[in-house]
Amino acid sequence: MTAATELTIAGARAALAKREISAVELTEAHLKGIEALNPRLNAYITVTAEQALEQAKAADAALAKGEAKPLTGIPLAIKDLFCTTGVKTTAASKILGNFVPPYESTVTANLLRDGAVFLGKANLDEFAMGSSNATSAFGGVENPWKRQGDNAALVPGGSSGGSAAAVAARLALGATATDTGGSIRQPAAFCGIAGIKPTYGRVSRFGTVAFASSLDQAGPVARTVEDCAILLGSMSGFDPKDSTSADVAVPDFAAACARGVKGLRIGIPKEYRLPGMPAEIEALWQQGIAWLKEAGAEPVEISLPHTQYALPTYYIVAPAEASSNLARYDGVRFGLRENGGDLKDLYERTRRAGFGDEVRRRILIGTYVLSAGYYDAYYLKAQKVRALIKRDFDEAWGKVDAILTPATPSAAFGRDEKQDDPVAMYLNDVFTVTANLAGIPGLSVPAGLDTRGLPLGLQVLGKPFDEETVFAVGRALEQGANFTATPSVRAAA
Ligand code: GLN
Repeated sequence: MTAATELTIAGARAALAKREISAVELTEAHLKGIEALNPRLNAYITVTAEQALEQAKAADAALAKGEAKPLTGIPLAIKDLFCTTGVKTTAASKILGNFVPPYESTVTANLLRDGAVFLGKANLDEFAMGSSNATSAFGGVENPWKRQGDNAALVPGGSSGGSAAAVAARLALGATATDTGGSIRQPAAFCGIAGIKPTYGRVSRFGTVAFASSLDQAGPVARTVEDCAILLGSMSGFDPKDSTSADVAVPDFAAACARGVKGLRIGIPKEYRLPGMPAEIEALWQQGIAWLKEAGAEPVEISLPHTQYALPTYYIVAPAEASSNLARYDGVRFGLRENGGDLKDLYERTRRAGFGDEVRRRILIGTYVLSAGYYDAYYLKAQKVRALIKRDFDEAWGKVDAILTPATPSAAFGRDEKQDDPVAMYLNDVFTVTANLAGIPGLSVPAGLDTRGLPLGLQVLGKPFDEETVFAVGRALEQGANFTATPSVRAAA
């Protein structure tokens, strides 16, 4: 049998059902890997070994009674942005460094309902703001991949870098993640795994620490498209506790993976061909088009004319919402508290001690674009452009069933690169932010290696609430790419 940590979620489920492996053995194998590699990779902020073993024992008992649920005994990493009852939830910020939630996020409650085992809380950029995991107050995460002939530490992407690194390094079978502008898809691409940001409203935001509420969506990362589909099925569903949760049925996403792409029209947006884009990104995109054509789909050139405004629009809307959401961290009710002479002093000391540089930058930009005199020039204008970006997609759906683009403009970069240039860092999101602004689903699929042996991803965008087609296209790309490369740093098989 395949080594426990090398299994897919679908494979582990079958092995558990046949009792070829126990849930306790599966969990122990992952905990052993975490013990060996987490000191180096820093993918987990908190490891909940005892709780994981308890959950695994309960899973074995359920399996023995023939009462297995969709995720019984499947060990997962949980991004440390999801509130977990009794387990520290930090958002990778000092300001929540000691916060132990008394309640469970809907996403994690759904996964527990379906029998999952939680190995621990995965590292991220502070409050999910970043593209390299460097802004975590608990130290950066190292990408388990290396450039050929070069031992330099690379970033795993962000903000869900801990989730992606843990899954790539075989320290979890899958993980939860969140995506406000690319934080599921970019780290998935950098770590050679798959990840989907579903349609806005598909997954409840209740109990997930908010960054930018109109853009935030949770989704899974895993090593195969089908595994992402299995996890998304459990995470999804209407939740009366989230006013933006959509009351729509949750289809069988895993079944949709096998649908094939025969007759589907795949949009190729010309605006995603950026000046100065590396030739290997363009080559991979062409390769993706060829794979889909071979599988029976028809590529169609389309135009999404407002694409060039997406990044500046995002970097107005996201900080504006962040500055409002983060106003609640004042040291009074929960989290860090730095006492001061009076209330204002307490606020100032607490927030100065609690927030890192990138979070402060966002709060300052957000407060500025919302302030009287600038609101119309920046925030309102950005809202109007956002509507135009969404309209571009609405018009495209008249002509195509899904859209194919590169996932990122480059492979993973060095830990010491781009860190002193916030604008260079923001450019990482150039292909991903449009999906958040328009509220549509986006899936990143590992599709090839760059000239230095690092993974590159392709992105599939779909119609609102049509994740099924996105999964079908993603699965066809996965079959075309036959991506079998593995990172050099991973749990021993
Ligand atoms: N990298 C983007 C940012 O820094 C996106 C982050 C995210 O999706 N959470 O805002």
